[in-house]
Amino acid sequence: MRRALAVASTSPEDVPVGAVILGPDGAELAAAGNERELTGDPTGHAEVLAIRRAAARLDTWRLEGCTLVVTLEPCTMCAGALTLARISTLIFGAWEPKTGAVGSLWDVVRDTRLNHRPEVYAGVLENECAALLRNFFR
Ligand SMILES: [Zn+2]
Repeated sequence: MRRALAVASTSPEDVPVGAVILGPDGAELAAAGNERELTGDPTGHAEVLAIRRAAARLDTWRLEGCTLVVTLEPCTMCAGALTLARISTLIFGAWEPKTGAVGSLWDVVRDTRLNHRPEVYAGVLENECAALLRNFFR
């Protein structure tokens, strides 16, 4: 999570959210911060960018055994993307009551109608992750 916090502010104009993907052996495969403002891409969330980079690195869309660490509760798009990528473990920091899709507004990753459900650990370094966002919006 400290690594995710470190990459969260790579684009100064974007909301600071950082994501890191670890391979089955625990080694870092990819990292990304939000790049929506930087690139003008509405799908440029940290999680989606990290998933794309990890998949390119492994040369497969199946990220089974991989862990996604992100500083903020994923939105519906990112929760959907990590489910489609077959990410095995999701670890996130701060809760996002306005758009969160891992328990706050929706619970996409634990929807039993989907055929893949990652293990979830919430609230890791929650205060630090939330403080980063608070400081940005202040
Ligand atoms: Zn998202």
